[in-house]
Amino acid sequence: MQPASFSEDVQQALQHVHYLSQAIGGRGSCTAQERRAGEYAAEQMRQIGVKEIRAEPFTAIPSTYWGYALSFAAASTGLLIVLLSDGLGERVLAALLSLAGVWGFLAETEFAPSWTRWALSRKESQNICGVIPAEKDVWSRVVLCAHLDTHRTPIFYSSEVWYAAFTALVALSFLSMAVGATVLGLSIFLDWTSARWVCLGLLPVQLFGLAMCLHADFTPYSPGANDNASGVGAALALARRLRRKPLKHTEVHLALTGCEEVGDWGIAAYLDQNAEKLGKDAVYIILDEVGLGDLKYLTADGLIFKHKTHPRALELARQAKRALAEVKIVEGVGLAYTDALQATKRGLMALTICTVPAPKSGSVTHWHRMTDTLETLSAKDLENTLRFAWTLLQLVDQRAAEAASPSGVNLNGQ
Ligand SMILES: [Zn+2]
Repeated sequence: MQPASFSEDVQQALQHVHYLSQAIGGRGSCTAQERRAGEYAAEQMRQIGVKEIRAEPFTAIPSTYWGYALSFAAASTGLLIVLLSDGLGERVLAALLSLAGVWGFLAETEFAPSWTRWALSRKESQNICGVIPAEKDVWSRVVLCAHLDTHRTPIFYSSEVWYAAFTALVALSFLSMAVGATVLGLSIFLDWTSARWVCLGLLPVQLFGLAMCLHADFTPYSPGANDNASGVGAALALARRLRRKPLKHTEVHLALTGCEEVGDWGIAAYLDQNAEKLGKDAVYIILDEVGLGDLKYLTADGLIFKHKTHPRALELARQAKRALAEVKIVEGVGLAYTDALQATKRGLMALTICTVPAPKSGSVTHWHRMTDTLETLSAKDLENTLRFAWTLLQLVDQRAAEAASPSGVNLNGQ
């Protein structure tokens, strides 16, 4: 079942990374550079011989920070009002504003509807899609996904220490809105005059959250060699390999998405448009940051609430891991969210493949930094990703054949 060598595929993937991260550079969500990346990917698909190549447009809020900033702004405005004039009406208003902050913040982490999403204006982006036909009748479908856009490079991603401090402070600023709503709400009924001083204590925490969000949107976009030119490069390399060695009964779809970095908008639009046609048994393989560190597949995905990977997707990943005993593969919970989250939340089988620098390996993450460049990538790590993804594809195809065969005989002859 194992193909001999992936070195040519690795070289192909690295060429794509080179073009995306260096010739184009930072590819902010809804920007001209994101569009150029999509055009490049579509052209590569044409050269490979992918079928049904198309751009699927959608609209998205082009910053994830605006929603959080509005939430903090609403809550801290309420606190300021009470500090300036502490009447019953003011407390009611401030409590409602704190609640609005809690709602806006939580909704942003879960991509749920909220007042911030209704208030903010949207811009156009697009997914680049295509199909690699199966050799024979189609009995199963796989969607290879990778996002085209890159994140901004705010200071809180600049070092491990900053990131840890930031995560704690963001949690604290979220809690401060919840505490604000509770204390103000109680003070309305209990006529608790010292509520004002609690507001004074909460205000700096929320202003910190607001300042961080505003700062983020003034930073440049990461060149995103690992996050996520590596995923796009790997998807295109796999597409090329599949055109040469198509799966017997599995149709492979490509979904190169826009606007993942600002809240998974692209994959949401893709699923709205295609999930029903693809069917509930389709397997979504998400390639996100696949060129630096130990190979990892995610058992859960999400920013605050961790949504568990579909058990059948996990089972498939574990089977692939067993088949590749020579490769170090770890499983675990994701740090933030990936495109898989939207599919997982819809009850679909989605699996994120990523890489993480091993502890004590000496290599550092370049996640959302300007140092996320081609030079930092490892051909070996990229090769492991390709090998693992290829094994998953073969397993899906093999299972489809087994399921379709009345005697349980493997029709693939593998
Ligand atoms: Zn990413």
